[in-house]
Amino acid sequence: MAALNGAVENGQPDRKVLPLPLRSLEVKYTKIFINNEWHESTSGKKFPTYNPSTLEKICDIEEGDKPDVDNAVEAAKAAFQRGAPWRQMDALSRGQLLHKLADLLERDRVILATLETMDTGKPFLQAYFIDLEGCIKTLRYYAGWADKIQGRTIPVDENFVCFTRHEPMGVCGAITPWNFPLLMLIWKMAPALCCGNTLVIKPAEQTPLTSLYIGSLIKEVGFPPGVVNIVPGYGPTAGAAISTHHSIDKIAFTGSTKVGKLIKEAASKSNLKRVTLELGGKNPCIVCADADLDLAVECAHQGVFFNQGQCCTAASRVFVEEQIYPEFVKRSVEYAKKRLVGDPFDARTEQGPQIDQKQFDKILELIESGKKEGAKLECGGLAIEDRGLFIKPTVFSDVTDNMRIAKEEIFGPVQPIMKFKSIEEVIRRANSTEYGLTAAVFTKNLDRALTLASALQSGTVWINCYNALYAQAPFGGFKMSGNGRELGEYALAEYTEVKTVTIKLSQKSP
Ligand code: ADP
Repeated sequence: MAALNGAVENGQPDRKVLPLPLRSLEVKYTKIFINNEWHESTSGKKFPTYNPSTLEKICDIEEGDKPDVDNAVEAAKAAFQRGAPWRQMDALSRGQLLHKLADLLERDRVILATLETMDTGKPFLQAYFIDLEGCIKTLRYYAGWADKIQGRTIPVDENFVCFTRHEPMGVCGAITPWNFPLLMLIWKMAPALCCGNTLVIKPAEQTPLTSLYIGSLIKEVGFPPGVVNIVPGYGPTAGAAISTHHSIDKIAFTGSTKVGKLIKEAASKSNLKRVTLELGGKNPCIVCADADLDLAVECAHQGVFFNQGQCCTAASRVFVEEQIYPEFVKRSVEYAKKRLVGDPFDARTEQGPQIDQKQFDKILELIESGKKEGAKLECGGLAIEDRGLFIKPTVFSDVTDNMRIAKEEIFGPVQPIMKFKSIEEVIRRANSTEYGLTAAVFTKNLDRALTLASALQSGTVWINCYNALYAQAPFGGFKMSGNGRELGEYALAEYTEVKTVTIKLSQKSP
């Protein structure tokens, strides 16, 4: 956000500073990427990818299925074999390849941000300053780790030497979502490669373009063939072929809790592959009466409306202490009414379209449920007429915990605001969900901040900030928001197996 704010003064973008999207960009990479080569699908089938702003087809993509996943896994297995160039490589050189990939993302940042905007509908400046920034920093962070993944020497009986090796797991599967297609891919690819694994990736069917472009960069950087393979296709076919595959050793998934469960089940029914899951959230954002109100209103607004509300971290349960409730609602409505919805390639646009008809219908249905169940609709509540998949920024007040908009993940531009009286009460209510991804607290009282930070059951707690994500800080969920952690040093454990080597000395100690 900081970079974006730097280029936007007084609400008006400074066009001298801002990057410009490529208005006519030819999509070059639409095929299956295996062994650093482009392939047609075995079945001969293709599937379309659409621009959600215009509802026009962008292009057709080769549709991978089980035979294509099998080919990709064969390539990844061969690249992982002892003696293959990837395995023989000095760990420092692995890090250099990741740095080189980051260099190419910097070089092609406008192309990638343009592709991401075409395929997802997210504002171009957001794609450029937030998604691409996150990708580049994550690659550089893990590039630095490649030659620092060390085992330990363990003191045992003195006639023995015991040490551990932190070895790569093997072939890793990555199944990614459509809300941050490239960023979620890099969150998986960077730690997997820095630890020395090989990869089979399936991007979300709605948004394959940036992941396929990365295939071309992988080749250009000079990663050995088979280290990274990308199979676009649908979830129940190509995705399921990955999660059930006996030669895939680990799978990293970001997406819905429903599919996360299917993947864990498939892993346990096949080869007990390791699984990390980053799933849904219904994240509490708690605003205490002593908070900096301007800050809290703005963060809660950005926290829920960012990326068209399509974030697993969305601040979709805002709890506000009763003394400041009316003022908080009033200011939140002012913000929502000012939010600029429109062409994501326009530098002023803050909100683009939802990703597809299914998500759009689901959001409108949940908005209707809010109205029916008695929440007060303060603004929005409708689609923007004649404009495809665009939804008006929507604020509900007088929301109670039993309403569907307070319980279900909406994944759209809808802000439900609730009232609370005491800290004990808000802790109980905030934790009363099956999810536990993120939470935020706004207060100037250190004691309250720390009490809430320890009491809230979620993988991340933000105090007086929102969506403050860093490549070096772990991210993941408690409860049904997932298993394992991405990012930071913690993610290295998700991509390595620990091997214990114990050596008996023939020379007895005197
Ligand atoms: P959403 O419901 O928001 O589209 P999903 O969880 O369905 O999110 O999708 C996230 C990713 O999971 C996508 O790449 C999708 O293709 C994939 N996927 C969907 N169903 C399956 C499945 N049965 N097995 C493996 N992957 C799947």
